[in-house]
Amino acid sequence: MEIRLENLTKVFVEKKQKETIAVNDMTLTIPSGKLIGLLGPSGCGKSTTLFMISGLLKPTSGKIFFGNDDVTKLAAEKRGIGLVFQNYALYPHMTVQQNIMFPLENLNVKRDEAIERTYDMAKLVGIEELLDRKPGQLSGGQQQRVAIARALVKKPRVLLLDEPLSNLDARLRLQTREEIKRIQRETGITTIFVTHDQEEAMSISDEIVVMNYGVTQQMGEPQKVYTNPDNLFVSKFLGNPPINILEGRISKGKLFAGEIELADGFDMENRNVTIGIRPEDFKVDANGFEAKITYMECIGRDTTIRFPLNESSMRALIDSESLVESDKINLTVRKEKVHLFDPETGAVLN
Ligand code: ATP
Repeated sequence: MEIRLENLTKVFVEKKQKETIAVNDMTLTIPSGKLIGLLGPSGCGKSTTLFMISGLLKPTSGKIFFGNDDVTKLAAEKRGIGLVFQNYALYPHMTVQQNIMFPLENLNVKRDEAIERTYDMAKLVGIEELLDRKPGQLSGGQQQRVAIARALVKKPRVLLLDEPLSNLDARLRLQTREEIKRIQRETGITTIFVTHDQEEAMSISDEIVVMNYGVTQQMGEPQKVYTNPDNLFVSKFLGNPPINILEGRISKGKLFAGEIELADGFDMENRNVTIGIRPEDFKVDANGFEAKITYMECIGRDTTIRFPLNESSMRALIDSESLVESDKINLTVRKEKVHLFDPETGAVLN
């Protein structure tokens, strides 16, 4: 089921007439059968967007379509959505089976069929052995699977997940996010996954939507958005360690940071630019500029160094292990790997 948002806006008005534009004129098409990660910093409007899609929150203006159906005014329970929140909200006094089956009771599904569908869903999420337990007897990851099974048992048209992994520890998060991906693939259900964790979104999403201040900044396949950010915000939001940002200028096709020439061959007028270089895009090269290592950190396979470049502190990921702090090395960056942004607007220039 394709989901289309047209000029969707939500303005919250609080008591003293203070207005918050949580979602600002959002237009977006979420393709059918895909897993979409809705991503952005705290307060950027992710949950508000999801709640409007679910029908739990009424838009101030704009429209929501499921396929060709305009669902903007349709009640939440009639939209055919499955919702999973970060606190799984399972009924503690019910067994796992009763929890999963609960939504079917209101739908007049016959008991035999309800039990069968419950078992199928439990199997899909891998908890069919735990049907007789109560939520309190399950781990966080298992509880989350029950919540997903409960959301899916109604055969919804759309699955909406709001920070579903944030109560899990690091290892379980990793495992559960792979499970979510598998379940989504097996069911083919259009799924929107809200998170502020860029790595989580990038690792499981077919496409990500990066938001800031209630506005879509960019949508696309994770790797494409990472390598071709449309603006400075997106470039900074994606990547760990983060992209290096510094001010520079283009002069006769060459890129300078202060007096240091970083790369050549830019087909651009002379102008000031904001430069973005990802830490992994610096290469050790005798012909490059000189960098004095001020700090070094080895974590597993990666060595991160820090060095000053025209008064900015840079990070580079390198594979040279024999270096020590205060060593000098020479680094280059390929022109194709350099991101240039307009210093005023942050829009990408190259
Ligand atoms: P987080 O990652 O912290 O959950 P989010 O991106 O999901 O954040 P939203 O919860 O959608 O952000 O909130 C967007 C903006 O709307 C925030 O500035 C928030 O304070 C505001 N907001 C959300 N709900 C309300 C409300 N009921 N009344 C007033 N303002 C609200």
